[in-house]
Parts: sequence; C-alpha cells; structure tokens
Amino acid sequence: MAVPISQAWTVASYVMGQKLKGRKRYPLVLMLEPLFRCNLACEGCGKIQFPEHILKKRVSAEKALAAAEECGAPIVSIAGGEPLIHPEIEQIVDGLIKQGRYIYLCTNALLLERALKKFKPHKQLTFSVHMDGLKEEHDRSVSRDGTYDIAFKAIKQAVEMGFRVTTNTTLFNNADPDRVHGLFDELMKVGVESMMLSPGYPYEKAPEQDIFLESDRTKVLFKKILSGAKKEWLFNHSPNFLAFLKGEIDYNCTPWGNPTYNVFGWQKPCYLLADGYTKTFQQMMDTTDWPRYGKKGTDERCKDCMVHCGYEASAVDDSFSLPGAIRMFKASKNLRKKITFTAEEEALYTKMKDEAAAREAAGGGAHSCSSSSATTSGRDELMEQIAANRMTRSVPREEKVSADSNDR
Ligand code: SF4
Ligand code: SF4
Repeated sequence: MAVPISQAWTVASYVMGQKLKGRKRYPLVLMLEPLFRCNLACEGCGKIQFPEHILKKRVSAEKALAAAEECGAPIVSIAGGEPLIHPEIEQIVDGLIKQGRYIYLCTNALLLERALKKFKPHKQLTFSVHMDGLKEEHDRSVSRDGTYDIAFKAIKQAVEMGFRVTTNTTLFNNADPDRVHGLFDELMKVGVESMMLSPGYPYEKAPEQDIFLESDRTKVLFKKILSGAKKEWLFNHSPNFLAFLKGEIDYNCTPWGNPTYNVFGWQKPCYLLADGYTKTFQQMMDTTDWPRYGKKGTDERCKDCMVHCGYEASAVDDSFSLPGAIRMFKASKNLRKKITFTAEEEALYTKMKDEAAAREAAGGGAHSCSSSSATTSGRDELMEQIAANRMTRSVPREEKVSADSNDR
C-alpha cells in the first residue's frame, strides 16, 4: 500500500461522509501556497516569477491554519515557492497536524537536510521532494548543477531519520521512458514511500511552448512509462488516475477537489489558472463558473491539461461508485501489464522522439537551463504578464482581495 492505513481510512471516511451528505463538489486536497519565493528557477514553473513585492509576501501561520479549517480537506499539500523558506513553516505544519490533516510538504530539498531537525517524524507529515529525472535531467530541469545530488542526499537522510518521503516528478515531452525507469529504481532503492507523476501543464504564455505535452502525447508517453511497471515501483496515485494518464479512462476535471489558497486569497478555479480570488472558500465555491473548465468545458486553457491537481480528485471520487470501483479493480490489475501499442501510437511516439532530438540538436532541448539571457528575459516578460493577469483578471469588485491582505 502506497499510504499508511490511517491515511487511507481518513480519506475514505471523509469521501463517504461527503457522499452521504449529497455534496457534489467537495475539496479533497488543499493546495496551500504560503509564499511564491523559491531558491530555484525552474523553466517549467509558473509560480516564481512574480514581481519582488509579491515574492516578499507570506501567508501567516494563523491565516494558513484558518484556511485549512475553512476548507476542511483531509489532505494539505504545502507548495509554493519553496515552503521551507517560510519563517513559520514549523507552526503551519504543527497546526495542521493538530487539526488532524495529512500534510505533503513539497520541497526542492535544497534546504531539507538542514530543516529536518526542526520537524519530528509523524505519520501525518510527508516530505514530497521535487525530482524531475536522473541527475542530468533533473539538474537541467531546475537549472542548477548539483541539485539532484543534494536532493538525493536529503531524501536518504530523511528516510533514515524515520520521516515519510515521497517524490513528485513533472514530465515534459523530452522524457525518455528508460531514464524515467532509472529514476524510479533509484528512488525506490533509497526508500521513498511512493512517487507522484504529472505531465507539465501547458502554460499558455510560457516562453518555450514546445516543451509541453498535448493530451494525445501525454497518453502515449505515460503508456510507455507505465507499460510493464515493476512491482517495486509504488505510485502515490489512485489506479484510476494512472489509467486516465494512459488514456484508458476518460474523466472531466474536478478543480474544486484541489482548491488553492495563497497570498492573494482563494484562487479561481484551480492551482494552475488564476481567474480571480475570493476572501472565503465558500465564495470561491459559489462564484466560480465550474462548467467552463476541464476537458468538457469551453476554456481553451484546459484542452490539454491532464494534471493531477485537476484529475486525481475525479479519479478518487469515481472509485467510490460501483462502476468506478470496478474500473479501479481493472486499473489495478492492468497497472503492471505490458501494453500493446497501436501503429498510430508508435508513429506518434516516434514523431515525439524525433522532435525532441531535433530540439536537442538545435541546442534548445526541452526544459533547458533558464540562465541563458534570451530565456531569462522571456521569462521575466512572461511573469510580468502572469502577475498582471492575476491582479487584474475580471474579478467582480466585491471579490477582489488586496494582495496586501495576507501580508505578515
Ligand atoms: S522548485 Fe518548485 S517552486 Fe521552485 S522554481 Fe522549481 S518548480 Fe517552481
Ligand atoms: S483542466 Fe482543470 S486543473 Fe487543468 S487548467 Fe483546467 S481547471 Fe485547471
């Protein structure tokens, strides 16, 4: 089992409770972003490039804990930015544990080894370490040499100290399944509890559009990666979500399953898009135009999105119905089987590999280092645009929340 029984039971009883209450839309994982500041500058990140006055802002421990209470989700993913930079991170973690929530503290692990002494191993606390590939791929992805080694050492130390450790890996269209398998082997060998996978979200204004995966390509890539998955590889996902990534099950997005609270307030509609903010969780739930989003919606930005923060909650919700439970049974049975690819899928995969090789030969390479001046200036421009969008998108006047409201 990829999570402790107590966690599985907490989540199962929570979901059953929501269903018994007849709630169609309920939160499962609160995405808490207590700051956007980070000590890395990954090319595929859509969170760090705010202007300095936004990067300085922090959600206080008091507000973070109040947001978790208000939302009520049994799981809290503390993201960012880099949460270990937050001056009140221990208070946030302690408070969430006291509230009975299970925490995934997402970190790039540069500060993890030093930070471990601030925390005590606890069944409700998991460090979720960002690992985008083996050394070469990871260091390039995060644009800093040596990062893989630091993260790997910190994971080892955390595991030895008795902490729960998982990893999160974002895959772009240059991912080589054999190398990804090598990463899985390394991570399981060092003792991580389980691994989380996600396709990179296609941010519409990202400087390097060709790094992102369209949904057909996502399905082929994940089929290649998960075909014949070893029994040692444990994934921090429901079997139905992994089947969704492989194109074996179709879901619509349930963005309310992973609501986001950050320095601006409650973000509409999801962790990835920022179409406005509200002061309260309930306002966000009541005023978001939900049918507009997801694959079945009309918003073009959702067209190719298959990200876990939109679809994992759909898969979990589905598994609590009889047909969904049958799908889950089948998905679990098929998880480790060798997949037979159609001629079209093989042709698409060959095309993807050829395109990745051509990009590499041209010196770009998907997800390349952000330290080149051309890329940096592109990203600065992008971030100004994103920041401007976040501050001014069409939010009804009464919903607009001052960015200063969460200042510490
Ligand atoms: S470590 Fe995470 S938050 Fe920091 S830049 Fe990379 S993706 Fe963004
Ligand atoms: S599909 Fe869902 S998670 Fe993805 S961008 Fe749209 S609303 Fe957000």
